[in-house]
Amino acid sequence: REDSLLAGLIGRGIQLSRTPLMQMAEARAQGLFTVYKKLDMDAPERAEMTLPAMVDAAEAAGFDGLNITYPFKIEVIGLLDELSDNARAVGAVNTVVFRDGQRIGHNTDLWGFAESFRRGLEGADTRHAVLLGAGGAGVAVAHALADCGVKALTIFDTDAARAEALAALVAGNRPGCKTRATTDLAALFAADRPCGIVNATPMGMAKLPGMAIDADLIAPDMWVADIVYFPLETQLISTARARGCRVLPGSGMAVYQAVRAFELFTGRPADPNRMKATFDVF
Ligand code: NAD
Repeated sequence: REDSLLAGLIGRGIQLSRTPLMQMAEARAQGLFTVYKKLDMDAPERAEMTLPAMVDAAEAAGFDGLNITYPFKIEVIGLLDELSDNARAVGAVNTVVFRDGQRIGHNTDLWGFAESFRRGLEGADTRHAVLLGAGGAGVAVAHALADCGVKALTIFDTDAARAEALAALVAGNRPGCKTRATTDLAALFAADRPCGIVNATPMGMAKLPGMAIDADLIAPDMWVADIVYFPLETQLISTARARGCRVLPGSGMAVYQAVRAFELFTGRPADPNRMKATFDVF
């Protein structure tokens, strides 16, 4: 039906996710009949349920699509007919659209970070950025930074092999961006000072306080982005703000990934301000 949204979120431990409310509130505000289900694979009633069975059930029930989160973003790819260019580049899917018997996988985390960056750090110097964290989210963020015009990207991760692998992946997928990995941030900042820093490690989360970078390396003329959004004001964001840096908190990526997913599910534009207002209610 054109006047409805039937979708859901598959993941583990998703009870606090803000995605369902953002999707539902936006759909209702647009006058759509809406069902958006939290399909928590940790729930006792799904103890026997596998990911393939869950995706089959959603498709058979006539869902428009699914959001996919931890730990299924890679596993779901094997269940799909087609991938968007971004999903293929990143190797992870967070949005599935069911259309004409086909299952199409998208990665709206990539566009979500890029759009948040373009809107929240307009005009930022993109000659050289440092990305902290080369895990699942870091892969999407690295590609997004290249799409935002970052000319040189240095990647740091406590797991050096991950940083190396991501540098190679982005170099292949986004040849306009020069990439490298580093194991020594202090040496990097002394030799080739970056214009901006992005945190895609879990450091700064309420349960993992702290920062993945030495505060002394952060200078007032750098922009600083975090993708951690619980809490919204991470130690990195508050340190950078106090230094006078332009900052971008993690809520933007979370909101814009949902904006793009809504558009893919419904074919209708979403109102980012309205979705942000729903996100902020928490
Ligand atoms: P992940 O576990 O896949 O990857 C985290 C990476 O960070 C790992 O490679 C790890 O080695 C590295 N790391 C950890 N501590 C480090 C440190 N001190 N210095 C350098 N590297 C370090 O996790 P993920 O799925 O990539 O998610 C990372 C964080 O991003 C999550 O905790 C979540 O808060 C946030 N996130 C936000 C959004 C959003 O929409 N804003 C979306 C996804 C994830």
